[in-house]
Amino acid sequence: MTDTATTSALTDDEAAVFRQRCIDFMESRPEQRGAPTPEQSRQFHADAAAAGLGAGVPYPAEYGGAGLTLAHDKIWREVKDSFPVMEADFVISHGMCLPMVNDHGTHEQKLRFLPDLISGTTLWCQMFSEPGAGSDVASLQTKAELDGDQWVINGQKVWTTLAHVSDYGLAVARNDPDQVKHAGLSMFILDMKAPGVEIRPIHQIDGGSHFNEVFFTDLHVPKDWLLGELNTGWKLATAMLMYERVAIGAGGGGGVNTPMFDLLCKYATSSGALDNPVVRDELMQVYSMETTKSLIAMRTRAEMKAGKTPGPGGSLGKLYGSVISWKMRDIALGIAGVGSIAWDDDNPYGGSEQSLTLRSFAAGIAGGTDEIQRNIIGDRVLGLPREPAVDRGVPFRDLKVGTQA
Ligand SMILES: Cc1cc2nc3c(=O)[nH]c(=O)nc-3n(C[C@H](O)[C@H](O)[C@H](O)COP(=O)(O)OP(=O)(O)OC[C@H]3O[C@@H](n4cnc5c(N)ncnc54)[C@H](O)[C@@H]3O)c2cc1C
Repeated sequence: MTDTATTSALTDDEAAVFRQRCIDFMESRPEQRGAPTPEQSRQFHADAAAAGLGAGVPYPAEYGGAGLTLAHDKIWREVKDSFPVMEADFVISHGMCLPMVNDHGTHEQKLRFLPDLISGTTLWCQMFSEPGAGSDVASLQTKAELDGDQWVINGQKVWTTLAHVSDYGLAVARNDPDQVKHAGLSMFILDMKAPGVEIRPIHQIDGGSHFNEVFFTDLHVPKDWLLGELNTGWKLATAMLMYERVAIGAGGGGGVNTPMFDLLCKYATSSGALDNPVVRDELMQVYSMETTKSLIAMRTRAEMKAGKTPGPGGSLGKLYGSVISWKMRDIALGIAGVGSIAWDDDNPYGGSEQSLTLRSFAAGIAGGTDEIQRNIIGDRVLGLPREPAVDRGVPFRDLKVGTQA
């Protein structure tokens, strides 16, 4: 962020002028609204960056940003989120990779990567999870070995969202197995198109393929593509997961959003169940829960606007989003039955609503499972005693648990 980014005082007049600028920009792009293609999303971000708006609002101009304040950023998000979605696929790029490269990158890394990342010219993914290391991600086995002026990466990641269309990614790998599990890890910027990267899409229940297995075989990475200090991979991974939970759990910067309620109302209207008092009661429960989630999101965003890095409180919004998804799925099944999860080829929505119901299962897994969020809230928000850890103080190489078992 800019030095001025956290000094966010804007007069009412300045805020109104900037808000109108954002509204004018959004209103001038009707073709990019609704369910945009990846190309339209990229174009939207390129246009926004060129207009001094978009993901780069609070970032310095020398790195491709607009050099404005977090107050401007909040207004931009509020306006953007009041229009139908215009930027499919950029949650990881802009919600996580952008702040990470900005917070931890060197001046040279920021000069090289941030302008294209902000303008959507490049798409980024994140690579933590491995077949044996998901919740216990510090057990990861992907190796990074220094060979002259290059890192050589070998190993496998899994569930990597959008790896198949990404240009770059941030990956955590183990560079020193003689250190304890959470030390000896570092974060790297990887070129997803480089030789040594093999990407295999995973096929989903709804027919899509949004995430992948990623294999690294002697992938060579320039030495200076290390992000942050050597051996700080765990610290950076934790910071990135906090950004992820905020991006998922406190998505958008606007007011109260009730997307699940809106979807269920649509189901209930078309099936004639809207007059059923039990259904109405359930719909109002979802409405209340989504309103509460929006208020949590607004609080988290306000903390970020005040210059605070997102903390474990982000887990609250993330967990609540998952609870809402569970509830939505149950109610959708009750209202629309099998129609909430299956569709014909001639469905006018192409199955997009049913896909939403099917994908709702992911809400309790992606970005850390519900159980892990509850552990974080217990340990780090409520201050409850931590679970016993049998791996504390033992070099990773000597562990007999986790992926070393
Ligand atoms: C849609 C989607 C997108 C994803 N995108 C990405 C991505 O882009 N990049 C990436 O790196 N990863 C991604 N993931 C992976 C995701 O982060 C992991 O799936 C998640 O962290 C869980 O890990 P796991 O699947 O290995 O399950 P496991 O860790 O094996 O967990 C299995 C079960 O055990 C429970 N459990 C495990 N440990 C504990 C504990 N200590 N206390 C209580 N319960 C526990 C879990 O809650 C879960 O119910 C994605 C996943 C999904 C579903």
